[in-house]
Amino acid sequence: MVLANDNIFLPHLAEITAIQPETGDTSTFALRMCDPEVRRGFIWKPGQFVEVSVFGSGEAPFGFASSWCEGEDFKITVRSTGEMTRALHNLSVGDQVGVRGPFGNGFSLEDAAGRNILIVGGGIGLPPLRPLLMEALAGKEKFGKITVLYGARTPADLVYKPELEQWKTRSDMEFLVTVDVAENNWKGNVGVVGSLFPKIEIDPTKTAAYVCGPPIMIRFVVLDLVKLGLEEEWIITTLERHMRCGAGKCNHCLIGDKYVCLDGPVFNCQQIKGLLEPA
Ligand SMILES: Cc1cc2nc3c(=O)[nH]c(=O)nc-3n(C[C@H](O)[C@H](O)[C@H](O)COP(=O)(O)OP(=O)(O)OC[C@H]3O[C@@H](n4cnc5c(N)ncnc54)[C@H](O)[C@@H]3O)c2cc1C
Repeated sequence: MVLANDNIFLPHLAEITAIQPETGDTSTFALRMCDPEVRRGFIWKPGQFVEVSVFGSGEAPFGFASSWCEGEDFKITVRSTGEMTRALHNLSVGDQVGVRGPFGNGFSLEDAAGRNILIVGGGIGLPPLRPLLMEALAGKEKFGKITVLYGARTPADLVYKPELEQWKTRSDMEFLVTVDVAENNWKGNVGVVGSLFPKIEIDPTKTAAYVCGPPIMIRFVVLDLVKLGLEEEWIITTLERHMRCGAGKCNHCLIGDKYVCLDGPVFNCQQIKGLLEPA
């Protein structure tokens, strides 16, 4: 079988099969590897990422926003921030991009068997956590309570709005959402994502917390979780750094002795003590 990452530097062609606008600057792209053999060998874990290239514009890393158990097409949710991401947003269904990967270590849900799962996402940090949630729900008998806390700047910045409505009504998970600034007749919680902690019950000795979001949000949420009594080993977060090769060769993402692309992007807080700047 030809695995998609047999030659880590060789992008494989993938076709855009769907585009779902999420917010004013963010869309979800469904991608399908063009070579059927590559497609069959393309297996990823939540928390891993791909390097996507738009021809003539460049390459950038994006976390998987869908789980392998949802089907062979995979999704990435991308905010338009610069040249490559703008070029990606200008493409249409049927256009092709290059894909390298999957890269990175990913989340290890198996280690959390028997624990409550607490997922905390901020802004565009929710997409890489989504496949983790899908897999936790698919194997829910292995875990205790599954809780998701999600914060965005404004209601308009929330991604996956129809799916969030479904999460609110599911009996097998608890879902709370907040925005920093209310608008559009928002009736929900207002405040940073940490303002949701007093609204849920957390047993710190039995909880595995997974955090992804902008660096400032990660720093404050990690502090909150430590104050709530979670052990650093069970506070698991992602680090985002500028990166190029995705495979620990080019040194772009080296911090201390860790390659974010290879040793991460998922770390527990014990492993990255001192690397998170003080809040
Ligand atoms: C492991 C990993 C997973 C990621 N997953 C996602 C995702 O799921 N969705 C998503 O929208 N984005 C994600 N990103 C960020 C994404 O890769 C950058 O937004 C992208 O590289 C910007 O490319 P550009 O050419 O459009 O912008 P550029 O012109 O290169 O940059 C535009 C702005 O974004 C900043 N920027 C660029 N790259 C990074 C980076 N790696 N970290 C922090 N700031 C950066 C630049 O400093 C600049 O201010 C991820 C990054 C990493 C490292």
